[in-house]
Amino acid sequence: MRQSRAVEDRFWEKVVKGPEPNDCWVWIGAIADDGYGRFWVTREGGQRALRPQRYAYEKLTGQTLHPGIILLHACDVPLCVHASTGPDTHLVPGTQALNMLDRSRKGRHANASTFRWRGVGRAQFRAQSLTLRTALLEHGWNETIIRPLLTGIDPEAPTLF
Ligand SMILES: [Zn+2]
Repeated sequence: MRQSRAVEDRFWEKVVKGPEPNDCWVWIGAIADDGYGRFWVTREGGQRALRPQRYAYEKLTGQTLHPGIILLHACDVPLCVHASTGPDTHLVPGTQALNMLDRSRKGRHANASTFRWRGVGRAQFRAQSLTLRTALLEHGWNETIIRPLLTGIDPEAPTLF
């Protein structure tokens, strides 16, 4: 389908993938007040906002998510759309979520973003998403700049923007 292909292309143009296989794939399109992305598409003649992580999950796994099924970020990065059917997926639906979160707590997940993204207020959460997007738009995936924005782990990184 020509039209759906165009929509998919438009989606991936707004995603920046980290260099390592386990890295996050970060959405750099629209960000809503909740700090999560929005992917605007035309559906049934009107504009509709989709959650990028749900869109990516369904495209990459071939599975349709029931609207009532939540999708959690095992990596804790709200803009991440790195989905796969394997154990390396960053996006975990409903029932699998507890297992993955447990795995994350035990330190076996590649990302260390929990410290930066969990337990912050809504405004701060959104501000961090916007900062991450701005950095990716301005610098691409510059490891020195992007990694601390994902994990909050490198306090010596200078502020370059
Ligand atoms: Zn991720």
